[in-house]
Amino acid sequence: MHPFNYVAPKTVEEAVNVLEKHGDKARPLAGGTDLLVQARGNKWDLEAVVDVKKIPEAMKLEASDDGLIIGSGVPCYQIYENEEVKKHYAGIVDGAFIIGGIQIQSRAAIGGNLCNAAPSGDAICPLIVYGATANIAGPNGERKIAVEDFCIGPGKTVIKNGELLVSISVPKPAKRSGAAYERFIPRNEMDIAVAAVAVSVVIDNTGENFESVNIALASVGPTPIVARKASDYLAGKPINDASISEAASIAKDEASPISDMRGTIEHRKHLIEVITNRMIKESVKRARG
Ligand SMILES: Cc1cc2nc3c(=O)[nH]c(=O)nc-3n(C[C@H](O)[C@H](O)[C@H](O)COP(=O)(O)OP(=O)(O)OC[C@H]3O[C@@H](n4cnc5c(N)ncnc54)[C@H](O)[C@@H]3O)c2cc1C
Repeated sequence: MHPFNYVAPKTVEEAVNVLEKHGDKARPLAGGTDLLVQARGNKWDLEAVVDVKKIPEAMKLEASDDGLIIGSGVPCYQIYENEEVKKHYAGIVDGAFIIGGIQIQSRAAIGGNLCNAAPSGDAICPLIVYGATANIAGPNGERKIAVEDFCIGPGKTVIKNGELLVSISVPKPAKRSGAAYERFIPRNEMDIAVAAVAVSVVIDNTGENFESVNIALASVGPTPIVARKASDYLAGKPINDASISEAASIAKDEASPISDMRGTIEHRKHLIEVITNRMIKESVKRARG
């Protein structure tokens, strides 16, 4: 690992200045659980690491009637221990709760998970199905981008040199809504997803029909996949085994996995069908309270 400067700015502006000065030789740091491993592997030619944890906006976790703000440096344990988050954003808790073990969760941030842009990142698909937005700051000011458009390839995001993710905004879920996330790994914990699915549903006031559905798939493409056809298929459909099975089958066809040491294409597609079915049912259960 090369020696590099560690900078801990107290404002977004200061952070942007340092990031801009060093260009592609600077990286923001949230928990460091990906970055330090990558730095040791010499993935980056680093001059500076810019820690976001002293920036108030990056450490904010606030749930209100307007929705949820998750600062880019907020560690996972703060998210899944927060009562408001547990009550209204159970799908996000599902993701945060399975990232690594307790030591990792004490440091690792959902923002870091998103910026690392691993196809298997456990925080990303839950954010997508909640319709979350990434709040980015850079030399040209602030910009917002939907989380579903944030990852553009394995390890690649829309963040440009000089920019950083400040926070993530999640809209307040509609009434009668529920969401859930689950992954398949070959052991109980501390592994990356072979396939994973996040679902959010809004059901109508009879509790018998889907109003709208969002389904997102992880680890079955170079970036998280929004399973739009499966999601649209369920809108307005009755909640029953037949409609849910059909949506799961459509989602399977929307996955485009590769075969590798963790699983084959066929295995991953099968997993997507099974987990989608399960997560739709779990989301409905949560929506019905
Ligand atoms: C033992 C172990 C187990 C793990 N298990 C899992 C798992 O089960 N599931 C899973 O998804 N991941 C897992 N990971 C990977 C990692 O812990 C997660 O991806 C974590 O959420 C990364 O967050 P972080 O805050 O540590 O990110 P960091 O390491 O700080 O950053 C990750 C990347 O994002 C960039 N970045 C960080 N903050 C910002 C910002 N504010 N703006 C712009 N770019 C930024 C960094 O420069 C870096 O490229 C594991 C890692 C380890 C070491």
